[in-house]
Amino acid sequence: MNVDSIINGVVIDHIAAGKGLVIYNHLGLKDLDCTVALIQNVISEKMGKKDIIKIDAAIDFDMQVLGYIDPSATVNIIRDGNIIEKKTLTLPETLTNVVYCKNPRCITQTEQELDHVFKLTDAENRVYRCMYCEAKAE
Ligand code: ZN
Repeated sequence: MNVDSIINGVVIDHIAAGKGLVIYNHLGLKDLDCTVALIQNVISEKMGKKDIIKIDAAIDFDMQVLGYIDPSATVNIIRDGNIIEKKTLTLPETLTNVVYCKNPRCITQTEQELDHVFKLTDAENRVYRCMYCEAKAE
């Protein structure tokens, strides 16, 4: 595969070095049928080193997960070999079923059907707390 020649797909660029694999796992990219390239420790003038993920299919994925893991990443949507859209990420205000509450006394432990919802309570330090019991996301 020539990783530079995505015709229709998604390129996640400017990923902090080391976060590429985390994103790969969280987005479940190993389950895709299409070609997926995880390129680690690419030399970047701006960032020193960065990771890049190239997905050779026009998939939809969870931008809140991506924003949570690495808000500095950029998402390029490729159609017919051209970038048609560049998306920048932000820290999501709310995370739904992205991280799970581990507090044994939290209502989510007994009420299995409840969504695990975390709210951003401190953007500077990227702190999320459980909506139900206020336990910190790990
Ligand atoms: Zn909780």
